[in-house]
Amino acid sequence: MDFNLTEQQRELQAAARKFARAELPDLARELEKEDKPVPHEMVRRYGELGFLGINLPEQYGGLGLGHVEALLVLEEFAQISVAVAFPVFEALTGPVRTIEQFGSDALKAKILPEVIRGEKIVAVAMSEPDAGTALTDLTTTAKMDGDSIVLNGRKRWSSGAGHSDYYITYCRFDSVEGAKGIGAVVVEKDDAGVSFGAREELMGFRGIPSADIFLDDVRVPAGNLIVGAGGFGKLMSAFGLERCGNATMGLGVAAAALEDALAYTQEREAFGKPIVDFQAVQMKLAEMAMQVDASRLLIWRAAANAGQGLPTVYESSLAKCFSNEMVREVTQLGVQVMGGYGYSKDYPMEQRLRDGFAWGIAGGTTDVQKTNITAAMIGRRFNQRSK
Ligand SMILES: Cc1cc2nc3c(=O)[nH]c(=O)nc-3n(C[C@H](O)[C@H](O)[C@H](O)COP(=O)(O)OP(=O)(O)OC[C@H]3O[C@@H](n4cnc5c(N)ncnc54)[C@H](O)[C@@H]3O)c2cc1C
Repeated sequence: MDFNLTEQQRELQAAARKFARAELPDLARELEKEDKPVPHEMVRRYGELGFLGINLPEQYGGLGLGHVEALLVLEEFAQISVAVAFPVFEALTGPVRTIEQFGSDALKAKILPEVIRGEKIVAVAMSEPDAGTALTDLTTTAKMDGDSIVLNGRKRWSSGAGHSDYYITYCRFDSVEGAKGIGAVVVEKDDAGVSFGAREELMGFRGIPSADIFLDDVRVPAGNLIVGAGGFGKLMSAFGLERCGNATMGLGVAAAALEDALAYTQEREAFGKPIVDFQAVQMKLAEMAMQVDASRLLIWRAAANAGQGLPTVYESSLAKCFSNEMVREVTQLGVQVMGGYGYSKDYPMEQRLRDGFAWGIAGGTTDVQKTNITAAMIGRRFNQRSK
């Protein structure tokens, strides 16, 4: 076992850090203030620099590296802010992977190069007003009609809604109930019958638009099918990598909180000495470091053990859940050690608390991860339904 990164991994990490720290902090402040997504020109720049294709296949323009490499890059962006990191998260660990894993060759050849070049963004539309944790209750319908699929329904919470170009839309085929009827289809932003509701106002996540998506008789080519009815298990298996991406977003936020807290507590004085000289502050900093480091190791384990495949449910749920709880605790400690300045919008710490909290809801709540972890340990799933 070797806990050191390879030379290539260290170089990639350093390149991502250099770019993120030189070019993104001002943009991150602007996105937070204006609540705007990363501008298209900057997403294209991410693409030109290779950041959107780290672990995507070379045949589509990616670098063909591993998931650990992808997560190293993602963490560097997330240390600046979740909004500037979001396009990287979406491309390397998010919904694009569903297309890469299960899409037809034609769909992959069309969408993957566009995403890797930073020209197009893919979002996922799973949740609905009455189907979140109980995703298998979703009611958006899909009907095959000759060479087309016709969709009707309403989606909620889709990060990127109204801004992203493609939506991996989970839907129910032919009124088949439960998980068995669920598949996924690519819907495009400009397809006739697609419209978006008002911008959702969230506690954090400024700069990542989300809204309801209305699908009214939306007709897409049959080739946009990613998986049909019966493919729910496949769709969920692609989530192993998404969980590691989600966990890494929280990790980046927490690692930045620790870095800021270390700097601040050595500068700020009280009672005539730096506050880091007070034992209560030292304990908080040590607690933050323990949490951040443990989280990073769990994420790296899940990613490294996956090789070119997908991280297991056990390792990815464990990494996600730990990170989700960790970032809430670490950012709270960060606010606390900075006193009034931690709570002030003049410093990024309060934003980190708000942005960090989200990851334990998005991509499956911490409760559900814990259910997954125990199910994996005992080797059977638990029926969540009363009947
Ligand atoms: C910031 C953010 C970004 C998101 N991005 C997206 C996105 O891009 N695409 C998308 O489709 N969705 C997205 N979501 C939606 C997200 O996936 C859901 O909010 C989440 O799955 C929870 O569903 P819910 O909100 O309906 O809560 P509910 O399912 O109503 O859950 C409420 C509470 O009950 C608990 N609970 C429910 N069932 C169980 C159970 N069986 N066992 C134990 N506890 C249970 C939950 O853990 C939770 O604490 C996002 C959400 C947020 C906050």
